[in-house]
Amino acid sequence: MSAYDAAMGSIEETPERLLQIRWVARSDQPAPIEAHSPAEALELLSAGSRRFAALGSSGGDLELRLDPEALGFVNTSDPDGILNQEPFAAVLGCSDARVPLELALGRGANDLFVVRVAGNVPGSACLGSLLYAAAHLPRVQLFAVVGHSQCGAVTTAVDALLFPETYPELARLAPLREIVDAVFGSVRLAAAALQRVTGSATFLAAAESRELREALIALTAVANAALSANVVAQHLDRAAAFGVYELAERTVGVMRAGGWEPGLRMAPSDDAGLREVLREAAEGYVSGWLAESSANDPA
Ligand SMILES: [Zn+2]
Repeated sequence: MSAYDAAMGSIEETPERLLQIRWVARSDQPAPIEAHSPAEALELLSAGSRRFAALGSSGGDLELRLDPEALGFVNTSDPDGILNQEPFAAVLGCSDARVPLELALGRGANDLFVVRVAGNVPGSACLGSLLYAAAHLPRVQLFAVVGHSQCGAVTTAVDALLFPETYPELARLAPLREIVDAVFGSVRLAAAALQRVTGSATFLAAAESRELREALIALTAVANAALSANVVAQHLDRAAAFGVYELAERTVGVMRAGGWEPGLRMAPSDDAGLREVLREAAEGYVSGWLAESSANDPA
């Protein structure tokens, strides 16, 4: 049973548990939320992720601040009746229904400018949307790319490379192929990082090993988010961050050499930085995998 199934099971076994997510408009905290720097925006998003992750494990009550004007309830500041769009960050994430970005980052309406596409790949329409935010939404301090565990687009790309015989059928579905092809480069980056850390021909071995395939999928999600954030930063010439939403833990973070670290990280600024991000993540996933296999080994 996975940690996710275990968590769901424990909820089913205690049906009286109440998980409450409330939108609250507070007069002592006027909207909108402001960030004055990329670092402040990053901390707001990371803190929101921590609050959401705590939901269900410490009280089951999450209060999200409501900007009533964003939903048209009141509009006192604009006599012309035009509602202001005032996000402090723009986020590119996956379309996966299990990854509700505003909730996962603990934010309410009008806090985030959100772009979602399968595999969170920065194609032209998505980059164009982010360009709009960069040009027209002056409160936006940070652009973030959030991937996630168990991503279908990432898994399909990994399997299409590990098991090439599955690719022709996919290639005939042009729109789907475009998304999967956009992830291929990240699979190779992840495979190269795993190979450096394990010292073996990991990419080929992964086709034979369930654990290595899972490590490759997890690491590809990191590579895809970090590379996409680097592309966004270069393209917009703005500060960008990245993270991976771990479904089982409900938290956004990044695997490091010493283990899972909650919170977003700033995007690597160059190829050496990207290699370092992936080396660390590969070490983290491989040491976790080795620890698990030795714990399961009766000898
Ligand atoms: Zn996904």
